[in-house]
Amino acid sequence: MTGGVRAVCLDVDDTLVAHTASARAALHLLLGHDNAWSLWAQITDEQVTRVVAGEVDSDTMRWQRTQEFFSCLGEFIDAAEAIRREDIRVRAMRAGWDLFDDTLPCLEWLRAAGVRIAVVTNASGSYQRGKLANLGMAEFIDGVIIAGELGAAKPDPVIFHTACALLGVHPGQVAHIGDRLDLDAIGARDAGLRGVWLNRTEPVQGELPHGISVISSLAELPELLVCDLDLVVS
Ligand SMILES: [Mg+2]
Repeated sequence: MTGGVRAVCLDVDDTLVAHTASARAALHLLLGHDNAWSLWAQITDEQVTRVVAGEVDSDTMRWQRTQEFFSCLGEFIDAAEAIRREDIRVRAMRAGWDLFDDTLPCLEWLRAAGVRIAVVTNASGSYQRGKLANLGMAEFIDGVIIAGELGAAKPDPVIFHTACALLGVHPGQVAHIGDRLDLDAIGARDAGLRGVWLNRTEPVQGELPHGISVISSLAELPELLVCDLDLVVS
């Protein structure tokens, strides 16, 4: 261990941005019902894995995902129709993107405290940068690591170590905060960072895994960093 925390990494979707709500509403708009969300989420996970592995580019993946999704629902559509439907879905989703109420106050506190900030996302493409800019977060962020561009996704230590190198700090001096216990908090811990689970919704059952901290809101992060994680302000 090399002392206290000097920088933070933050997940994006469902940590800073209410992503699932907007993505689910957009799919509902496209289909007229909400019955296929789990299928969409499963296909998305599989398709994003292909992008991270370098098997397909992000733009191609998007229409192929839509084509596969409708095929699973029993409807064959050609590439042009898949692109059209994906365009409708993405426009609706982007219109619905919203920050959580605690996001900007947390980023403002971190910036005021002199803490360097990277975002580390398992998303497939550069549209994540547009999301950060459009929602007013870009000015707070020193670095953006996108799994689809790097070729490694959380919980692979490569993505966490890339973020630490970008921030110019040792992994032991970085806290990573995200909504997924497995991909974010445990992944970060196993890569040598401080793993923080942002659990906005579920009551915690049983004991937390060793070395993991939990918060229920980003509003709790400053106190955690100062008291428990020994924040070092440069
Ligand atoms: Mg997330």
